[in-house]
Amino acid sequence: MAGIYIHIPFCKRACHYCNFHFSTTRTHENEIREALLKEVSLQSAYLGKEPVRTIYFGGGTPSLMPDLFLKEMLSAIRANFQVDPDPEITLEANPDDIQPGTVESWVALGINRLSIGVQSFFDADLEWMNRAHNAGMAEDAIRMAQQAGIRNISIDLIYGGPTLPDENWIANLEKAAQLEVPHLSCYALTVEPSTALDLMILKGKKEAVDPDRQARHFELLQSKAPEFGFEHYEISNLAKPGFRSKHNTAYWQGVPYLGIGPSAHSFNGKSRQWNVANNALYLTSIQSGTVPFEEEILTKANRLNEYIMTSLRTMEGLSLERYAAIAGTTAVQELLKATAPHIANGNAILTQTHIRITEKGRFLADGIASDLFVEE
Ligand code: SF4
Repeated sequence: MAGIYIHIPFCKRACHYCNFHFSTTRTHENEIREALLKEVSLQSAYLGKEPVRTIYFGGGTPSLMPDLFLKEMLSAIRANFQVDPDPEITLEANPDDIQPGTVESWVALGINRLSIGVQSFFDADLEWMNRAHNAGMAEDAIRMAQQAGIRNISIDLIYGGPTLPDENWIANLEKAAQLEVPHLSCYALTVEPSTALDLMILKGKKEAVDPDRQARHFELLQSKAPEFGFEHYEISNLAKPGFRSKHNTAYWQGVPYLGIGPSAHSFNGKSRQWNVANNALYLTSIQSGTVPFEEEILTKANRLNEYIMTSLRTMEGLSLERYAAIAGTTAVQELLKATAPHIANGNAILTQTHIRITEKGRFLADGIASDLFVEE
């Protein structure tokens, strides 16, 4: 099985914290759309005969795309790959793009899951982040999606920012539960180098992010999740039963995927490759019939370290059997030795079959994983 990701590299305006690849200059949008469609056929051999179970329009802002393009993209994917009869098809949408009738037309195209960029139900946060919507638009967007018949809705929420006191973070989670949203992706506000937010903090124009507040918000997320019926199935992702993201779960399980578009990443089990993160260079290259990518052949250590990192972020944890299948049984002993201090301090547990991060250790999961990494 496999997945396909399509990166739409345009946004209406730049959120201050964002370091994804996007452009707010939309002059060459038509040509880029043509190029995205062309890349699908240029990459038609990448997944071999693997059936495609998930398709994900991400970005950038896919909800800016006209229906005709989404339709053509889905047809091109079906013409070039073996797509399952009932794939999960997700579209990332910003609340300001959802109007009466919008979601109905997406449903007619076969889109069956929306990931809505809500971020917060408080205007002060949204203004601080420079989002293009307000809190009322976020609520309306969720309701319109539900009325159009989409049950499988995820919303993004950002925690830990200076404009979000603890009680407002709890209120955001309560609002999501009250609106009956079955999936949440919750991210700590990260100040990425050279983003507008980073520069504003450096110049003293915005308050810096407080790591203690972030840790507190993560603890609140963990404690509130069961109260609202969510399973905290991955560090940043929570779902009601039956609503886990199939696309992202496949990433974490090492399933192959193809990324289409500037900056998109692909993985085929043996190597990773990533397209150039520049719209103009992407366009010129695709127009001349070449996909502009760099590639890294994965060593055994690369594969092990990726497995350690992704599996420890999930509720199920790291399977000792799977680890042994990649690394051999001697390596499992080394892994257990490296895990021992984290078990001793209560941040990890060892069962007969898995290593798991405990609730106490979850906020530190990435650091714990890097302690377990193997050398070449
Ligand atoms: S809409 Fe999404 S991709 Fe675009 S700038 Fe904002 S966070 Fe980044």
